[in-house]
Amino acid sequence: MYIWVLCVIRKTMPKRNIKPGDDVYFELYDLNTSEFVCSQHIKNDYIKSFIQTKGTRGKCDYCDKKINVIELYKVLELIITGIDYLYEDPANSRYLNKEGRHGFDGNTFDFYDLWYEDYLDLRIENTRLFEDIYKYLKNDSLYCYINEYGSETDFLNDSWNHFKRIVKYKARFVFHFNNVFSNHNLVDPISILDKVQNSIIKFNLITELKENSVLYRCRQHITKNEVNLAKHLASTPLTLAKTNGRMNPAGISMFYCSKSKDLTIKEVVDTNDKSKPFYTTGIFRNKEKLNLVDLTNIPIPGSIFDSARNIDIETIAFLNGFIEDITKPINSTDSIIEYIPTQIVTEYIRFNPNLNVDGIIYPSSKNKRLKNIVIFYDHDESLKKLSFRKSSLKTESI
Ligand SMILES: [Zn+2]
Repeated sequence: MYIWVLCVIRKTMPKRNIKPGDDVYFELYDLNTSEFVCSQHIKNDYIKSFIQTKGTRGKCDYCDKKINVIELYKVLELIITGIDYLYEDPANSRYLNKEGRHGFDGNTFDFYDLWYEDYLDLRIENTRLFEDIYKYLKNDSLYCYINEYGSETDFLNDSWNHFKRIVKYKARFVFHFNNVFSNHNLVDPISILDKVQNSIIKFNLITELKENSVLYRCRQHITKNEVNLAKHLASTPLTLAKTNGRMNPAGISMFYCSKSKDLTIKEVVDTNDKSKPFYTTGIFRNKEKLNLVDLTNIPIPGSIFDSARNIDIETIAFLNGFIEDITKPINSTDSIIEYIPTQIVTEYIRFNPNLNVDGIIYPSSKNKRLKNIVIFYDHDESLKKLSFRKSSLKTESI
């Protein structure tokens, strides 16, 4: 969109004094190039691949080869997109400070520094190309990092930590009173849950579990033959659901499972618990297709040079940290308190009409590459909505 805007503005508007970070920031730079460039002279992955995929066959002005080339101004537009993502004019955001290098607080620099120190990590390996781009983009503006004093990721992490503090140590059930529980940034605990909901929708994290999928369950037990029916391996009966799980508080029973038998055993069996020397695995299958939130499918963040995707870099960084936090190993002594935030997140996802899902896929705390599944079925629901064959039962000693 920016590039289209640029083209219109370039042709129709007179030059004026525009600072980095302004809406029409391209005006700051000279984009009237005539050169063509191939992908061999810039090592930055995104720009290199952009030239390779968008270029057309022609002659490169920097190596004279007949190869895929692109107009230089298109590379300049990417570089300017990266500059605008990372930097702004300190006059827009910084206090004046006589002691500062350019009269402002914080780290400020000019275009010469930005370019010759390769702050953008472009790794241009052709001197003439390096100098040509400098010639087109150089200007008298000052720059500073937009995130020098805190990024959006920092803000979201603070909000998540604030949420955890409130629900663990202050208010477990009524934290929605935002006037009471907002912090100094006026962030209320609910807002981070809304962020999670919006991210699930935005990044399309809801996936379909096909009907009849194999779902392994496992239970560790005392006597060899005590697990021999579906009801012995289904979700815990409500009268016995007295322990906290990562996703469920005591009293609310859920169906924890995975598609991997080994992982299910690893998650359930405690080999140090000699009072329960046996474990039994079995296979359940969902009778109908299920919609699950897949927290293992967070997108890879886009490049700062990609105007369509760089807007999500901070949110994705937060989500990755958030998922790491809610799936980290927790010892059983701490679990009553430490599982509370994830139990609330799970409940928020479960009953959220905007999501309408049956469960969550999440990375295993034992091995981040493996996936656990929790389905929101209690004992009766798991017996009714999942099929089971007794022949799938297998009992072993620990
Ligand atoms: Zn070339």
